Amino acid sequence: MIDSHVHSEYSKHARGSIEQVILSAISKGISVLTITDHAPFFLDSNNRLRKEEIYDYKENILSLKEKYLYEIKVLVGLECDYFEDCFDYNQEIIDSIKPDYVIGSIHYIPGINGNINVWDLNKINNPQVIERYFHQAKSLIKSKQFDSIGHPDILLRAVNSNFLKKYHFEIIELLIENKLAYELNTSGLRKSKYNPTTNLECFGEWSYPCLGNIKYGVENKIDFVVGSDAHIPEDVGLGLEEILLKAQNIGLKKICYFENRNKKHIEIRDLLRN
Ligand SMILES: [Zn+2]
Ligand SMILES: [Zn+2]
Repeated sequence: MIDSHVHSEYSKHARGSIEQVILSAISKGISVLTITDHAPFFLDSNNRLRKEEIYDYKENILSLKEKYLYEIKVLVGLECDYFEDCFDYNQEIIDSIKPDYVIGSIHYIPGINGNINVWDLNKINNPQVIERYFHQAKSLIKSKQFDSIGHPDILLRAVNSNFLKKYHFEIIELLIENKLAYELNTSGLRKSKYNPTTNLECFGEWSYPCLGNIKYGVENKIDFVVGSDAHIPEDVGLGLEEILLKAQNIGLKKICYFENRNKKHIEIRDLLRN
């Protein structure tokens, strides 16, 4: 199996050393693992890799890559944020460590009275917020700084899929044009879903990845990446098999991962066989 999205304690709000994350991946039969801690950013800067840690982060991954070379392929990744006027900031970080893989994700949406986080479930079911999220997602894709867009369908945690369909399809069309991959992020299988009518949060119900998007993506031949978005070692690999089985039933045959920023394709049937 391949897991292209995991966090370690370098992200500060995640737990476990990189070695613990790798050991958990090995125990689950993962053959390619990309460590993608939250890259330094000007928002929430203490809750992620700090700028001064970035070389240490890379060195740490590379030495463990060597140590476990015969058990697993470990790659250096980053999950970058995208926000207004962030291009140069992100590019400097990316150029400084030249990772194998860079995810571009939106966690903050500019609001009228400060920013809204995508996990503020009682605030995101709002037409203006939705519009701004996708405006930002489109700029992220067009920036061409990233290899994939992380959890593009995350608003499904609190917004009905009918409201998002038009936006999701626009995103997929832009991914084709800009050759970015769509991330199937399985944290949506573990996270709560929010019902804006009752204000209740419930667990155990799937919110994202959006199966309708996979179908549209397959029809339009976009590339998909998969990641558990684990923030604790135990969650590494969770949900990947489940989503790949569903995606396969929809017609998806291959997924990809990135090494040295180059796309490598793998047949899903080979991943599910092992
Ligand atoms: Zn994220
Ligand atoms: Zn993440």
